[in-house]
Amino acid sequence: TGAAPLLDVRDVARRYGGVTAIANVNMTVQAGEITGVIGPNGAGKTTLFNVISGFTPPSEGQVFWKGKPIVRLSTHRIARLGIGRTFQNLRVFPNMTVFDNVSVGALGHIGFPAWRALVPGVGQSRAQAIIRKTWEALDTVGLADRAGELAANLSYGRRRYLEIARALATAPELLILDEPAAGLNDSETAELAGLIRSLNAGGATILLVEHDMALVMGVCRRVVVLAAGRKIADGSPAEVQEDATVRQAYLGAS
Ligand code: ATP
Repeated sequence: TGAAPLLDVRDVARRYGGVTAIANVNMTVQAGEITGVIGPNGAGKTTLFNVISGFTPPSEGQVFWKGKPIVRLSTHRIARLGIGRTFQNLRVFPNMTVFDNVSVGALGHIGFPAWRALVPGVGQSRAQAIIRKTWEALDTVGLADRAGELAANLSYGRRRYLEIARALATAPELLILDEPAAGLNDSETAELAGLIRSLNAGGATILLVEHDMALVMGVCRRVVVLAAGRKIADGSPAEVQEDATVRQAYLGAS
């Protein structure tokens, strides 16, 4: 509050035929904060993320990134503007190395045609930038020592980290994490909370969709609650947990 938001979602609706996935959704993300989005199954969380990252056009409304409208831009353009995301269903290439899985993210961001690396003197600095970004991202999630292994060799929990590393390699100003704790056990989830906090301490702004209530309440500064496509609450973790509508719609229902 006060400062202009980094991301500003205004009156967004998305309908699929007769199904209203989300309607009248307003929310902001302030630079430097960790904002959470929670809600029961089918609440519209993924749809909201898909609208923000350009995978789904909204039926109504606008999304502003640093004050500029972005809803008609391609996913690629939006990523290059500084919005990186992970997916609820992992998008890991099992037969590629850990390094290559992550460099795909850096490559997409830097926009470097691979063949240019073969031309002496042309594009060398870009090739180096991709390699540097890839190592940095691997280092951040603790996968640097496994860079040469096939992604298929990683445990499920490590593959979740690989997905985060790929998003980090795009050097996002806003990192959108779609259910990063899905399928993780308690100790892995606790470790993930540590990673999210350290990314934020390092300057990353994070938007987090999660089912794991303890994780959301533990790491988020602000929490937005969706139910049946509508925003029903928006506040600190404590405020949201005490909200009667939230208790009824969400906490009581799950
Ligand atoms: P979950 O926690 O189960 O992932 P969610 O909160 O992410 O749920 P969404 O996946 O955004 O919810 O779905 C919201 C509603 O929109 C649901 O009723 C869903 O069936 C519907 N919906 C989402 N995508 C589509 C689509 N491509 N076509 C038709 N209906 C859709």
